Amino acid sequence: MEHFWGSRSIEKNKALVEELQRNGIIRSKRVAEVMEAIDRGIFVTAGAPAYLDSPMSIGYNATISAPHMHATCLELLKEHLQHGMRALDVGSGTGYLTACFAMMVGPQGRVVGIEHIPELVSSSIENIKRSAAASSIKDGFLTVHVADGRLGWPELAPYDAIHVGAAAPQIPQSLIDQLKPGGRLVIPVGTLNQDLKVVDKNLDGSISVRTETSVRYVPLTSRDAQLRNN
Ligand code: SAH
Repeated sequence: MEHFWGSRSIEKNKALVEELQRNGIIRSKRVAEVMEAIDRGIFVTAGAPAYLDSPMSIGYNATISAPHMHATCLELLKEHLQHGMRALDVGSGTGYLTACFAMMVGPQGRVVGIEHIPELVSSSIENIKRSAAASSIKDGFLTVHVADGRLGWPELAPYDAIHVGAAAPQIPQSLIDQLKPGGRLVIPVGTLNQDLKVVDKNLDGSISVRTETSVRYVPLTSRDAQLRNN
């Protein structure tokens, strides 16, 4: 039974990846491979329609991003998620992208997830342990911490790739500071109208910012404000 359900979910996950490839959202083999390897079904509540291209509630006024947003961010960050590189996932939620990052940087790399809801940190660790990225936790190159992600995670800075999964009113300076020269930050910015910003730190330390697309994310805020917002 378990095996039957398991193999069907892998097929549905593959069909979702193929749909994103047909739509031109997944453009590279590497992103297709990692999204095929990390089964989205593991990261959503049992019974939820995991393989629809839509965001889904995960409790605590948070959502797992839609697959096309996960794919877009992986495509934008892929050059900064090479083997051995260092990645920070702020607002790591279910741990889906955190797990994808671990697959991409591999055991010589380092991945840090930051999430301010302790229950989501615990469940994300369980999710990742059931996924194809399980060894990243066992081998200790992926860790998830309960913290305010607006401050980043200076202990392991600088990072080649920083992803923020919640919309900030403006780009937090601490995240820019924790970016390696040559590194890239992908972050939704704005309140009602939000833009997905791509922030590159050039080798001379200067910053280039461009807008990729309009988006709608939950806010990057304090835990109290998030939980009050019912
Ligand atoms: N990439 C995640 C997105 C989850 S939604 C996924 O697809 O599963 C955004 C997450 O950001 C929520 O889990 C929310 O709790 C978290 N968040 C919001 N503000 C935060 C902050 N200041 N520090 C850390 N996490 C934050």
